[in-house]
Amino acid sequence: MVLPIVKYGDPALRQKGARIEKITPEIKELIANMFDTMKAARGVGLAAQQVGVALQLCVIDIREVTDRPSTLELNGKSSDPNAFMPLALVNPTFKTFGDPVAGPEGCLSFPEIYADISRPPEIEVSASNEKGEPLEFRCGGLLARAIQHEHDHLQGILFIDRMKRDDKLDYKIEIDAIQAETKAKLKKK
Ligand code: ZN
Repeated sequence: MVLPIVKYGDPALRQKGARIEKITPEIKELIANMFDTMKAARGVGLAAQQVGVALQLCVIDIREVTDRPSTLELNGKSSDPNAFMPLALVNPTFKTFGDPVAGPEGCLSFPEIYADISRPPEIEVSASNEKGEPLEFRCGGLLARAIQHEHDHLQGILFIDRMKRDDKLDYKIEIDAIQAETKAKLKKK
């Protein structure tokens, strides 16, 4: 089931997600719905906060982006990132490697806004999958960027917080408009 995606201005986006202690049937259903929602929105990633639920949970699928490569190392072996998708990450944490590099990012909670964000190019991720099994891998490129963007959401951090000052000023009118529209909708409810 496709869920509504909350936009900037919704307090859910600023909530730190609670740790998931057990994969209940409700969590399984939420993950399935987040996969459907990400696919329908043609997103690369989606955090639970973006469907209004403050949990340490996100989903990722980089398969539609063909012009921005990703790398993946599973159990020390170089693997096909596409074969690893779609990916659900429960309680993800990571270590970063390398000096930050700038790359373009957008966010389903900020329609039509794109900016370069600096992030470390490689990460080593520890998480659980949708079955509650431990998951460890190392990745780079778009996949590493997407996971860091989603991991930020799980802490209530948004990509506008990491934008260069000038970019944020350039987009001020658009960002304020999204926020105002969201607040007006929330008031009506
Ligand atoms: Zn986002």
